[in-house]
Amino acid sequence: MIYADNAATTKMSGAAINAMTACMQDIWGNPSSLYGLGQRAKEALEDARERIAVCIAASPKEITFTSGGSEADNQAIRSAALLGARKGKRHIISAAFEHHAVLHTLKKLEGEGFEVELLPVGPLGTVTADQVAEAIREDTALVTIMYANNEIGSVQPASEIGAVCRERGVLFHTDAVQAAGHLPIDVRAQNIDMLSLSAHKFHGPKGIGVLYARQRVPLTNLIEGGAQERGKRAGTENVLAIVGMAAALEESCSHMAENAAKVSALRDKLISGLSQIPHSALNGDPTNRLPGNVNFCFEGVEGESLLLLLDDRGICASSGSACTSGSLDPSHVLLAIGRPHEVAHGSLRLSLCEENTEDEIDAILKAVPEIVAYLRNMSPLWKDKVSGKRTFIL
Ligand SMILES: *Cc1c(COP(=O)(O)O)cnc(C)c1O
Repeated sequence: MIYADNAATTKMSGAAINAMTACMQDIWGNPSSLYGLGQRAKEALEDARERIAVCIAASPKEITFTSGGSEADNQAIRSAALLGARKGKRHIISAAFEHHAVLHTLKKLEGEGFEVELLPVGPLGTVTADQVAEAIREDTALVTIMYANNEIGSVQPASEIGAVCRERGVLFHTDAVQAAGHLPIDVRAQNIDMLSLSAHKFHGPKGIGVLYARQRVPLTNLIEGGAQERGKRAGTENVLAIVGMAAALEESCSHMAENAAKVSALRDKLISGLSQIPHSALNGDPTNRLPGNVNFCFEGVEGESLLLLLDDRGICASSGSACTSGSLDPSHVLLAIGRPHEVAHGSLRLSLCEENTEDEIDAILKAVPEIVAYLRNMSPLWKDKVSGKRTFIL
């Protein structure tokens, strides 16, 4: 099997599995209990919090554990919205290519009387700091722009957006789920007020994530109950997953540069090979993209059929994002960068990690052109294009 869907989830690292196994066997107490067994769990929890904080240049007090990236996005946006509303600020700036955890939260807030402005995304999949600066108003409560896009891998100018927001006194949240462990993050230097990350995107376990919120940015809790996480997120902490997340993030961050060099070389080989397929187009920026992200549109091909035939050859990939596959709507991200509906249906995302090999890239480069040609041959629409009855888009 060739696993090329690391943007959907990653395989757990040995470091994460070992840390979690030890924790399951020995550190199973409740961190809120006062006896030694509980206190050992509390120590493991706080140790993980400190190590995670170091990875993004935050302080441990600024780290809140959540059930993952989606919860962190929800809590960050709701907290900022409520804070703004108390000061009469009900305008929120975001972008059309955000993850649904952000977009759907914003949609709900619209129904609650907030005004959401989604910035248009450029053809290479980026939003500029100038666009943000122009959109900020007196009543802007929050700017939420992702750090790197999960479908097309485009990396956003987070530092510049952070600087604009800080200067104008507006809170800046970034969904860094695809970036954490893969790109350097320094919340202080980059003026990031709130940030979401998720362990299963950097070889940690699923169902655990972090909401970083700068000191003095008050959080609203989504889950009421006990006083865990300074009263901001009730429920007995998932110590096991938190310990696994800390081990995975530390490992990813300490090998970041060498992993990025290795993975981006594989990515570039894949991009240049797939570019040879006629009537295809790379989505996103050729260079300013996540080290492991490859995303192409192939005219005249249904993404779903392509995935099924790749699966037959043992290649795991995706079309759009895991969250939208299964729905027949074209990707909102591809539409946001201006791909027409017809083309947006024929996209393929291959997302690599440091465990992928050159041989695997060669196998993908053999399989994809064959499958694309096979599917096009079966398509009446494609025959019309070849005969000149319809025009090619790409
Ligand atoms: C995966 C992902 C999420 C959701 O994270 P979960 O931990 O699966 O809830 C949010 N945003 C982006 C950009 C993602 O890639």
